[in-house]
Amino acid sequence: MTLSRPRRPDLSVNPIFTRAPLRIPRDRFPAGELDPAVAYQVVHDELMLDGNPRLNLATFVTTWMEPQADRLMDESRDKNLIDKDEYPHTADLESRCVRMLADLWHASDIDDAPGTSTTGSSEACMLGGLALKRRWQNARRAAGKPTGRPNIVMGSNVQVCWEKFANYWDVEPRLVPMEGERFHLTAEEAVARCDENTIGVATILGSTFDGSYEPVLDICTALDRLQERSGWDIPVHVDAAGGGMIAPFCDPELVWDFRLPRVASINTSGHKYGLVYPGVGWVVWRDPDALPSDLMLNVNYLGSQLPTFTLNFSRPGSQVVAQYYNFLRLGFEGYRRVQQYSREVARALAISIGELGPFQMLTRGDELPVVAFTLAQDVTNYSVFDVSSALREQGWLVPAYTFPDNRTDLAVLRIVVRNGFTHDLADQFLRDLRDALPLLQGQPAPLRGPEAGSFSHGIGSSDQAVPQEARS
Ligand SMILES: *Cc1c(COP(=O)(O)O)cnc(C)c1O
Repeated sequence: MTLSRPRRPDLSVNPIFTRAPLRIPRDRFPAGELDPAVAYQVVHDELMLDGNPRLNLATFVTTWMEPQADRLMDESRDKNLIDKDEYPHTADLESRCVRMLADLWHASDIDDAPGTSTTGSSEACMLGGLALKRRWQNARRAAGKPTGRPNIVMGSNVQVCWEKFANYWDVEPRLVPMEGERFHLTAEEAVARCDENTIGVATILGSTFDGSYEPVLDICTALDRLQERSGWDIPVHVDAAGGGMIAPFCDPELVWDFRLPRVASINTSGHKYGLVYPGVGWVVWRDPDALPSDLMLNVNYLGSQLPTFTLNFSRPGSQVVAQYYNFLRLGFEGYRRVQQYSREVARALAISIGELGPFQMLTRGDELPVVAFTLAQDVTNYSVFDVSSALREQGWLVPAYTFPDNRTDLAVLRIVVRNGFTHDLADQFLRDLRDALPLLQGQPAPLRGPEAGSFSHGIGSSDQAVPQEARS
């Protein structure tokens, strides 16, 4: 990323750390060496200027883990996850996590459901999408039909990884736009865009835009009816990046997972509500039929060949080890308590924000522990971007962004409640929001619009939905 302001070519170093003046080029390869203590201090001081991750209400990604998890991660970051032959125990923890997720998501044969860890949901969605595409191609070839024009149906609220999938692997994205108060995919809209070239429908359990769940059950039922009418057997991938680790604990009665025969694969971000630091995602297929074997490549494992399906090769073992630690440490009841607490904080926060007056709530933490809200109709003299900026002055990172087609007119603020965001912090946040209002209400006109904030990139490109300005 380039920064707009001119910069000195050399880093300036606190004279206390060095005995003689030093020249350290900022972004040219250094000619000589530095003392490790000096190098450490230079890097450390630079990173001090980042925002405080604990006050980052923009991201779904974990910002705190227990010291025991930190220690295990330190102990395993030197092990390459792909060296399954050399580190069979790390490899085994990975397959145990896959089976635990298959169990949590109600696979009918837990030991037979294929799956893998990934770097995050983006890679997991690519793999889920690729399996859909290959299955469709194989079925079409077997039927002697052309395979040139695959498409995938999804809501315009998809995370950017699905647009990447469609773009990188030449699949036509059939995006269902938002309309009125409908902010995600519905069964009727999805089915209307399916045809014989549809490799699958990607549904989202926990839209990044507002935290709402898409109606996976309805979509599957509508696709069942479509199959009766047309013969097209269109599978569903559930992108449960957030909800895959919320719904099983907080909404056990909600049927969205492998209990639905049409659900072929599910992904989640281990580093979101899986409660692990960034760098881990998961994808699980319902059974071996859902994952074409011609996508698998073999790596050496205990003297035999282990089939794998990933985009990356080398990765540290630490994230998978930390995920296994969390599963073991918290179990079902522990995860339920942690996620339920986040949901309660989100719900309480939504009620209080609604009571402040100038805001109109879109979601209230009832699905993902996410609160999305906009300004009431009669507020015309300041924008959600102004609110975001005022909160930033207090250290809170709350993104403001506009919705995708056809609601680009709607600009919202979004708060993601995660483990570590307590009722006390929420109360402090509310005080800061309330204290910011008089100044905003005194403005003659909005100061910031979507261009200045340019948050759409943040929400679309990763879940670190921090405004661009915050990065420079
Ligand atoms: C966060 C998110 C992604 C991308 O996940 P990463 O783990 O950041 O790669 C994909 N889909 C949805 C719905 C998300 O919320």
